[in-house]
Amino acid sequence: MNPSSSSSLRIPGTPFLHAPGPTRLPAQVVNAMGIQPLELGDPALDTLIADCENGLRRVFGARHSDVFMYAANGHGAWEATVCNLVAPGGCVVVAGSGTFSEAWALHAEGLGVRVLRTACEVGRAADAGAVEALLRADTAHEIAAVFAVHTDTGSGVTSDMQAFRDAIDAASHPALLVVDVVASLAAAPFDMDALRVDVAIGASQKALMVPPGLSFVAVNEKAMRVAEANTTPRVYWDWLRRRSDLSYRKFCGTPPQSLLMGLKAALDLVFEEGLAQVIARHRRLAAAVQAAVEGWSERGDVAFHVRDAKSRSVSVTTIAVREGIDPEALRTLARERFQVGIAGGLGNLAGRIFRIGHLGDLNAPMVLGCLAGMEAAMSASGIAYGPGVERAVRVLSAPAGENVQ
Ligand SMILES: *Cc1c(COP(=O)(O)O)cnc(C)c1O
Repeated sequence: MNPSSSSSLRIPGTPFLHAPGPTRLPAQVVNAMGIQPLELGDPALDTLIADCENGLRRVFGARHSDVFMYAANGHGAWEATVCNLVAPGGCVVVAGSGTFSEAWALHAEGLGVRVLRTACEVGRAADAGAVEALLRADTAHEIAAVFAVHTDTGSGVTSDMQAFRDAIDAASHPALLVVDVVASLAAAPFDMDALRVDVAIGASQKALMVPPGLSFVAVNEKAMRVAEANTTPRVYWDWLRRRSDLSYRKFCGTPPQSLLMGLKAALDLVFEEGLAQVIARHRRLAAAVQAAVEGWSERGDVAFHVRDAKSRSVSVTTIAVREGIDPEALRTLARERFQVGIAGGLGNLAGRIFRIGHLGDLNAPMVLGCLAGMEAAMSASGIAYGPGVERAVRVLSAPAGENVQ
């Protein structure tokens, strides 16, 4: 390699990772993963797995559910959910919320499932009323499940999951409620039992602060009964085979031990801080980022993609740029000159928005550093912006617990 090329120069200090996943790893997680594997018969492995299952039950609010963990990313847990719950040729409703709801719909179609989509208005929360209408029209009860994404990481929208519970109840339809909380678990409030969510889906690399490669589902009794009756061929993903006391069966093979060690360390951090405090911290940091974006918007070059403040996620903020500005060039410049890693737009939002992740192992000065780095990157790119960092400072300097927005 050319020693004078910029890529070979050591850049002092810490790069700022502000993508909405994978997120920064706390030192405790890195250290927990840096140890030798356990022999498969070691009872410490069973304890590790049980601790992860119990910790996940707590963050899901799933006191009575089975928890299954996969050596797979979030897409693996999507596939697991579809093939356990939906019979060949079966039908589901996918509530449109953005890129991830659409990707999930395509994934289900790829597995031979018929998908009814509700329309997704740009930058708006998913429409529970449209789901209710589809369920009411389905007098033959062909719809097996409603799939809803709590926080759609593509659009930056968080939808109200209670509205989906109410829609299914109002239609008196037996469909299961299946919720993707990959981007919101341990960031936004979610209580699977209280919402009577039948299956909740999470993954390691978002607010849970673990490297990618581990995903999990919490499955209640009603959904387990549906899985038991479902004849769709499946082996690796099968909940019935995984419902076992043997660690080798739980993972359909060797458990991904390092990731489980990381997950246990991350869950310990969440519970040491307190789940309620973790959620309050995300709300506060998101309020700071969103106050900054509000300020930036005053000059007209950038604007919120999600117009309705109530629907803005506490995990990721999506920012639209005016015609003529290339968000990918801004992203590259932010990464290369200012060591701030943000995300671009996905799907039909590519080239139209950029995304700032603010979830996981983050505190106030880290968020301020990211925002200041983005201001530097916008300055260097000739993008006009109003006062952002100072608005964020105002939010963060208000007494903790004060409602600043
Ligand atoms: C990240 C994400 C996924 C997919 O996770 P992968 O690990 O990339 O497969 C699914 N749903 C949501 C809402 C996500 O944010």
